[in-house]
Amino acid sequence: KLYNMAQDLKGNVRVYCRIRPILNMDAKNLVDFVGQDGSLVIVDPSKPRPDGRKVFQFNQVYGPSATQDELFKEIQPLIRSVMDGFNVCILAYGETGSGKTHTMYGSSGISEKEMGINFLALKDLFQIAEKRKDTNYDVRIQMVVICNKEIQDLLAEVPAPDGESSLPDVAFHSVKSNVDAISLVNSGQRKYSCLNTSKINNLSSPFHSVVTIHVHGKDTSGNILRGCLHLVDLAASGEDDTSLSCLEDVITSLSQKNYNIQQGSSKITSLLQDALGGNAKVVVFTHVIPEGDNFAETVNTLKFAQKVS
Ligand code: ADP
Ligand code: MG
Repeated sequence: KLYNMAQDLKGNVRVYCRIRPILNMDAKNLVDFVGQDGSLVIVDPSKPRPDGRKVFQFNQVYGPSATQDELFKEIQPLIRSVMDGFNVCILAYGETGSGKTHTMYGSSGISEKEMGINFLALKDLFQIAEKRKDTNYDVRIQMVVICNKEIQDLLAEVPAPDGESSLPDVAFHSVKSNVDAISLVNSGQRKYSCLNTSKINNLSSPFHSVVTIHVHGKDTSGNILRGCLHLVDLAASGEDDTSLSCLEDVITSLSQKNYNIQQGSSKITSLLQDALGGNAKVVVFTHVIPEGDNFAETVNTLKFAQKVS
């Protein structure tokens, strides 16, 4: 069903691939070829070619040496769109250990160099606000984790909430500068990584983390701009198809103007749907583990991209 949707989606959804560096130096690399045109060829090291070869097509593929800044450059125009009053959703998708959290949050320590998209986006947002002298911007942040049908506020312990969101027991927080915003998201991230660590026996992480940024701008003639940015670190994909179908559900619903939340639709879908209009833009970063013993799971993860790009 998603395949037909893809025709309409082309303008609104872009799907990228990021291959993380090999961490186990003894492992064989399953990445055979990365094309400038967004093609990716992976090969099953346990099977002779060509039957072990699979070709996938993305909007762009980022190899293991790609930096956080390079990735961010790809989506930077969308941050401007948010400030212009559009709704944008950026999702990281892939197996456990494929680099989703690295892309969205960065790796721990958060030196300037390793900052992930969440932080780079916030910095950029405030830089744009600063430059636009004729518009006054209010920025509010909400940060939640979703596990099955449960939603938990990652910022529940941070004081000074600024009003309830459409979700029960979840608050928005006003931020006045990028320093404010980064420290807020940092505190939410600490809680998110605690949750992931406490589930360490469970091989795949069952949690989605969603950072939602609401931007409200008012220019000198009283015009109002409302934009929204969702930054999503999805629960792991792989052998288990629930996350894949969840992502299909999200993508499908984001593309429908007057989508009605159906009974049984996932919590994450309703959360993202909440702040979306008909011209929302969606970006998916599909993450690949390059170690060769991972072929079947990788194919499973990449199948999705073939459907929507
Ligand atoms: P996930 O969130 O998908 O489970 P992580 O983001 O936690 O995966 O990444 C797993 C490990 O790989 C971490 O130690 C992380 O620092 C490292 N890693 C992931 N992507 C990269 C990258 N592009 N460059 C360097 N290290 C990376
Ligand atoms: Mg993670």
